[in-house]
Amino acid sequence: MASQLRLRSALALVTGAGSGIGRAVSMRLAGEGAAVAACDLDGAAARETVQLLGGPGSKEGAPRGAHTAFQADVSEAGAVRRLLEQVQACFSRPPSVVVSCAGITCDGFLLHMSEDDWDKVIAVNLKSIFLVTQAAAQALVSSSCPGSIINISSIVGKVGNMGQTNYAASKAGVIGLTQTAARELGRYGIRCNTVLPGFIATPMTQKVPQKVIDKFTELIPMGHLGNPDGGLFM
Ligand code: NAP
Repeated sequence: MASQLRLRSALALVTGAGSGIGRAVSMRLAGEGAAVAACDLDGAAARETVQLLGGPGSKEGAPRGAHTAFQADVSEAGAVRRLLEQVQACFSRPPSVVVSCAGITCDGFLLHMSEDDWDKVIAVNLKSIFLVTQAAAQALVSSSCPGSIINISSIVGKVGNMGQTNYAASKAGVIGLTQTAARELGRYGIRCNTVLPGFIATPMTQKVPQKVIDKFTELIPMGHLGNPDGGLFM
């Protein structure tokens, strides 16, 4: 029970919370006692996640401070600023845990990749990390609160992947940004960490052709894709 409720005083902001890893992270944080501000580009999907979280906050007309859904495009500076304002207005404090899971892929070989596909992926996967990390850190520093910022990168950011120059560059950028933010923000009691998942079975990987999935599965010692909630996907 103690470990279940170790986050009972935490307020967690999760982006990309309407699907896959972001939804699983939201459920885990709520299960350990945190109040969750679940944000997604798709507001209905974020509300669905809040329904799944259970507890009084999951119901319509939830009391102030219970799990709450927010809609925002985290690649847009004004939207991120409004998101942090809305979360603080709703919960009367800044989020002490921030998990940035929002992400997209627009795959294609380098020789044919359009500038638009490059820009979109960098905006959603990397610029959003700058915007959310900065806005959350500013809110924490101005309230003199400690916090933990977790940015989801990918193993692809470390080793590259065919057809994903834009995605690999964005995820490598997340690593550098987060390592630097950790050095700058440690003095304020704010920890910054990045997680590099391997291949996880979510709507994002459902778009990958089966023959590519099969190829990667051969490289996974367990012989299965990961499951977003941490279990094995059989
Ligand atoms: P997912 O199921 O597609 O979830 C991503 C979520 O982010 C979706 O709900 C999506 O909303 C949302 N989103 C997209 N653009 C957004 C924006 N501009 N603002 C706010 N939300 C936005 O993908 P996932 O597999 O859970 O991926 C989560 C994170 O883990 C991503 O950063 C991904 O790169 C990373 N990751 C995934 C894997 C994997 O194998 N699955 C491996 C390594 C890293 P819409 O559905 O409305 O677009």
